[in-house]
Amino acid sequence: MLGDTIAAVCTAPGVGAVAIVRVSGPAALSIADSLVRGPGRRPSAWPTHTVRHRRLTSEDGALLDDCLVVVFRQPHSYTGEDVVEFQCHGGFVTPRRVLAAVLERGARSALPGEFTQRAFANGRIGLAEAEAVCDLIRARTEAAQRSAVAQRDGALRNAVGEVRDLLLNALARVEVAIDYADEGHALDTASLAERIASARSYLDRLLALGERGRMLQEGARVAIVGRPNVGKSSLFNALLRSDRAIVTDVSGTTRDTLAETVELDGVPVTLVDTAGLRETEEAVERIGIERAREEARCADAVLVVLDASSGVTEADRHVVDATCARPMVLAVNKVDLTGAADGDRVAASVRSAWPAASVVLVSATTGAGLQCLATELARVLHVVGVPAEEDVFVSRARHLSALRAARGSVVRAAALCGIETEDVVASELRLALEHLGEITGESLTEDLIDRIFRDFCVGK
Ligand code: GDP
Repeated sequence: MLGDTIAAVCTAPGVGAVAIVRVSGPAALSIADSLVRGPGRRPSAWPTHTVRHRRLTSEDGALLDDCLVVVFRQPHSYTGEDVVEFQCHGGFVTPRRVLAAVLERGARSALPGEFTQRAFANGRIGLAEAEAVCDLIRARTEAAQRSAVAQRDGALRNAVGEVRDLLLNALARVEVAIDYADEGHALDTASLAERIASARSYLDRLLALGERGRMLQEGARVAIVGRPNVGKSSLFNALLRSDRAIVTDVSGTTRDTLAETVELDGVPVTLVDTAGLRETEEAVERIGIERAREEARCADAVLVVLDASSGVTEADRHVVDATCARPMVLAVNKVDLTGAADGDRVAASVRSAWPAASVVLVSATTGAGLQCLATELARVLHVVGVPAEEDVFVSRARHLSALRAARGSVVRAAALCGIETEDVVASELRLALEHLGEITGESLTEDLIDRIFRDFCVGK
């Protein structure tokens, strides 16, 4: 596949000021020569990293657009090949026409992620770094973006490298003992066990951060539960609209729950409202409890909504009791309907019923207490372990499963150390190293690598 010339529009489709058509491969410069009109030298004669304003024409001589033509000569380009980028006018038609003209001259449409795959194949970028490019584009929160940038910069490779070094060192000791057994070279099992234990605790740390990283990638999940008409939907909407919340869209909303991701006090939170189910008066309590249980099971924290105007009811108690296994914030809503003294009285009775819970007085209608509620939710989520800004976390399922598999082998190696023969221990250590190699791409087949890159978007 390498050797041909590929092209794609690498900016998002739609109306915009500028679009970029990227061409990479041996024919990139000659294709640019045949598209560019006007005086001056042709792009194939330009030095690398040259930008010029030029007119582009189609094969029949019609003017396509005037644009900036950028030339990167191999190996000094993103892919490591000759690359030409046409920065043309945006919109639905111009980029499509420019791309069509490039394809007419012998390039083929790039597959998703193919530019980055070429960068990887040409040694411009490692596999973990290439995947970070994809995560960077898809990041929906600042924290996820920060982690992807760090991974792009080699943070994951370095972290994996540290475990690898520990394991290689352990493996070397075992192999020396195997090779020189005849000369009476005994294996120092205590220091070997120590090294294996260090590798294991490093892997444990990476895996723990990975689980927390999932929260940053997908947003921590907060379920809003409570009996009907306490104001769950109103609070959901109020939190989405509040000045401090940045609403981002989230896929996978189901028909009977509404989910939106917002950033509350810097914590990305997917709020799940259970609006939409029809409830009959008789079944209210049962449905409320079932729903609370179900939502609480999947959520990182639960926001239980109570109605200040009706006080704490039996149904409220059941809902809270059903969810109290999870970190919880109790929002006493509709305080605008009660006087301040009544509101405080309800809050006091809530606090005495659930002394450990955090209680906030709010009004979805007036917005009173909303900021306090956002801060409280963020605080509860920090307690359950949203990673700190500086943490690099592993969030790709592929990386996590390789780390888990490596850890499995390390645990087995530790258990076998001193019990089984050196050969058996060595083979578990080799397996662990192989699993780590899956992250950096060393122990992956071409098919698997192809599949990883097909998850990228076209033009990247
Ligand atoms: P849900 O069934 O728990 O989702 O409750 P809704 O959000 O649909 O609200 C039920 C009713 O209470 C609606 O008529 C809302 O306008 C009203 N409501 C919700 N929050 C407040 C509030 O803070 N103050 C007042 N006065 N009414 C509210």
